Amino acid sequence: MFFEEKIETASRETIENLQLERLKDAAKRVYENVPLYKKKFDDAGIKPEDIKSLNDLKKLPFTVKDDLRDTYPFGMFAVPKEKVVRVHASSGTTGKPTVVGYTQNDLNMWSSVMARLCCAGGVTPHDTAQVAFGYGLFTGAFGLHYALEKIGAMVIPASSGNTEKQIMLMKDFETTVLISTPSYALYISEVMEQMGIDPKKDLKLKYGLFGAEASTEEMRAQLEERLNITATENYGLSEIIGPGVSGECTHKCGMHINEDHFIVEIIDPKTGEVLPDGTPGEVVISAVSKEALPILRYRTKDISYLIPDKCSCGRTLKRMAKITGRSDDMLIIRGVNVFPSQIESVLLSSQDVEPHYEIIVRRENWLDQLEVLVELADERLLDNYSKLEKLQNKIKSDLRTILSIDATVTLVQPATLKRFQGKAQRVTDLREKK
Ligand SMILES: [Zn+2]
Repeated sequence: MFFEEKIETASRETIENLQLERLKDAAKRVYENVPLYKKKFDDAGIKPEDIKSLNDLKKLPFTVKDDLRDTYPFGMFAVPKEKVVRVHASSGTTGKPTVVGYTQNDLNMWSSVMARLCCAGGVTPHDTAQVAFGYGLFTGAFGLHYALEKIGAMVIPASSGNTEKQIMLMKDFETTVLISTPSYALYISEVMEQMGIDPKKDLKLKYGLFGAEASTEEMRAQLEERLNITATENYGLSEIIGPGVSGECTHKCGMHINEDHFIVEIIDPKTGEVLPDGTPGEVVISAVSKEALPILRYRTKDISYLIPDKCSCGRTLKRMAKITGRSDDMLIIRGVNVFPSQIESVLLSSQDVEPHYEIIVRRENWLDQLEVLVELADERLLDNYSKLEKLQNKIKSDLRTILSIDATVTLVQPATLKRFQGKAQRVTDLREKK
């Protein structure tokens, strides 16, 4: 099902014409209304009228998270405050959060682009959707909430946490769609098991639309099996809009980008050069139709690549591959680049361990040490030393194959590692920052 079929199946020419028109307009608006952009443009020696083709986008300066922090709270808004009807803020782990604003038109656009992604993920007006994202300054819950209502689904604004109650609502209200982070969905499935609830028999779940953190194909397979659903992933970030930038259709082969509103480039994170389709690099996004906070060439630090060919669902909107990591999540261990997602795929491909893990990096005697803690699926294994050792060695050798470095593998009892109701925090880097 499509939400806006005309644009979702539009020709490349139609999309690009729309992008260029909106880009020109956004450049003009930020130059005239946002002092930070006027300075950035002037420093780069560029004027809004220099943008004559989409190719000229690469002449524009980048925007980074610090630009939002430096202008906290409202310094990057391009409209007077009376036009702003909503603000959200990112969950800044240190210091002040980054604040984003929306006009009424922005909110309408947001719910439409997200509605397209919900339809792509299988949602129809017949569905009952449970939003298990936290409602608040975080964009996740509101982004999905209004989109689902726009489609005509029945929305349960459950918010995150209180997992047993979530499951009760799911059963009693016959929830068909679960909205959450993949790590919370996994935790919900575990609590279901403890409560003796079998999703295949006791629930009506059909789809899971997951976002706010990246996950691997192995994690998807686990969630689909445990919850008896088709799981799709969607992508976005508050600085750009919140969820709604891109999302998978049920073919699960990359996330369709809402290209008429968000122009996505992939750059080499070191040189800033734009990379061709298919080459992995850092995702850079321009939100060209936003009124309150138009943002140009925002460096997301997320790593992905573009997939230009037409999808079998009929959508012509370009896709971006699942995020494989963040350039700042990347750990450099003994000079080797390590992404937590690589470790996750090794762990989740083993039957004997649970998809709960922690990664710890230490420096001992000037040498980086990587430790991976993972939960056993069955605690009886703890009594079988030879089996335990075999499993440990197997994981160790699989990790060595993927990462080219040695890791210490620690197998722990079931249900002992931390569970997450929002975004998972699985990496602890104990090395002193230089
Ligand atoms: Zn598709």
